Amino acid sequence: MFIAAGSECGNAGTSQEAECRGIHAAVTKGIRLQLKNVVIESDNKGAIEYLQGKPSNLSWTASIILDQAKHLSCSFNSVIFSFCYRSGNSSAHIIASQRMRIHGSGCGPKKNLVHKGFDISSLCPLCNLLPESTVHLFLHCPLMLELWTNLLSSDEQILVKVYEADSVVDLFRNWPVKSGNDLMVRVWRYLPYATAWVAWKHRNNKVFNNVVPEVRKMILEIKALAWYWCGIWGGRKGYSFRDLVVNWEGVLAGAVTARVAATGIG
Ligand SMILES: [Zn+2]
Repeated sequence: MFIAAGSECGNAGTSQEAECRGIHAAVTKGIRLQLKNVVIESDNKGAIEYLQGKPSNLSWTASIILDQAKHLSCSFNSVIFSFCYRSGNSSAHIIASQRMRIHGSGCGPKKNLVHKGFDISSLCPLCNLLPESTVHLFLHCPLMLELWTNLLSSDEQILVKVYEADSVVDLFRNWPVKSGNDLMVRVWRYLPYATAWVAWKHRNNKVFNNVVPEVRKMILEIKALAWYWCGIWGGRKGYSFRDLVVNWEGVLAGAVTARVAATGIG
């Protein structure tokens, strides 16, 4: 069975992202049709190479969409992601020359989701209310809005930016660069990425393990991840993770300063 992954129309931010969404849509379509052996064709060389595990310079958002598509495709017995020219239609030739089987590559027990009774739905797995799109999943899902509101309650201006954003990439690209004490600067810099990472993890945990996401846990994980990423910076030892847990607003405001260790100097 062949599925051509055309550009799905939607609110995708870039044409590359739109093509990746097309591939994602093709995978979900194949799952709905309960196909077993699938060939997915796209004329986006970068996307296909990414799916084949080759180096490519896709945007962060595009690669997230493809990671998801690849993960979902584990439910097929076999899947081939194949590049084809927009005008070309000779699938057999293309498969013969460029095929790539993704089979058992980290799929493990997630194989054959459909046969195991998983419901593959295009609704957002976090809220089960609205269609899942990138901007919904990372920003505007009711659960995510609760999360962002909690994290950014001390900075209404940025919270408003999250509410008003049309694109995750644009929001992150224009994320304010703070100046102030070093911990504050770093936590602000890591915050959007830690949030997206944790949201993605919990989304997958819901889809594949049916674990209901909890905002409280997600917030703690976001703080822990930001703290972990701060680990590459020696100055972190002047602070403690507890600062982020008990005085998050203070950290974001730059009010939490480093404790100077007693070194015995003087
Ligand atoms: Zn949602």
